[in-house]
Amino acid sequence: MSLDCEDCKDDVGRRRTIRTFRRILPSLGKRPLLYTIFTVPPVKREQFLHNPKLFRSVISALWINILVSFRGEYALAITHPVGDDASIFYPHLNLLWVQHKGSNPVLDLDELRAIWAGCLDYDGPIDVFHEFSREKGRIWHYCAYNLRVFPGWATWIPRIQWFGSFPKCHDVDAEHRCPVCRQTYIFLGFVSVFEYEDFVKKEEFVNSS
Ligand SMILES: [Zn+2]
Repeated sequence: MSLDCEDCKDDVGRRRTIRTFRRILPSLGKRPLLYTIFTVPPVKREQFLHNPKLFRSVISALWINILVSFRGEYALAITHPVGDDASIFYPHLNLLWVQHKGSNPVLDLDELRAIWAGCLDYDGPIDVFHEFSREKGRIWHYCAYNLRVFPGWATWIPRIQWFGSFPKCHDVDAEHRCPVCRQTYIFLGFVSVFEYEDFVKKEEFVNSS
């Protein structure tokens, strides 16, 4: 899949969002989706810039810790290369994840920071952001925001990683093709990141017809 095309990045991002949303949502039941962002301190960034595979192995180590300490059942690990300022390399890991039934989604952030620092072999201050939601619209937003495409960074971004007992993917038909990069995508018309209701209504209509 080409993720380097400016012309179709919105449609490709939407396709990734729909696939992931459909994949995650039925598995949740009454459980929330957890969203945790792990940032990389400045002194550690350069080694990852030259070695995205190394970042992948750090993420794998992190997952083992989360599995043990916070009862993780499965996770989707998505790396972003930049933050709000697209000109500065600011790698961070976005982890969308689910705990085993009966777990507490309110986490001990000090413990989480200590785990992340340990995985990076780093002992300074470190940022970790954490929240969770059971609300469909919010979960849609988690997917859409994180699965956006970053043209220009495709060769650096480590592949999306699934960990644990994750739900299978049921692919959705992609009937359109980008005239520039030949990438296929789904065209739904306008679906805002914040207005998932239109999409959900279409889904229900399709399912009931
Ligand atoms: Zn394209």
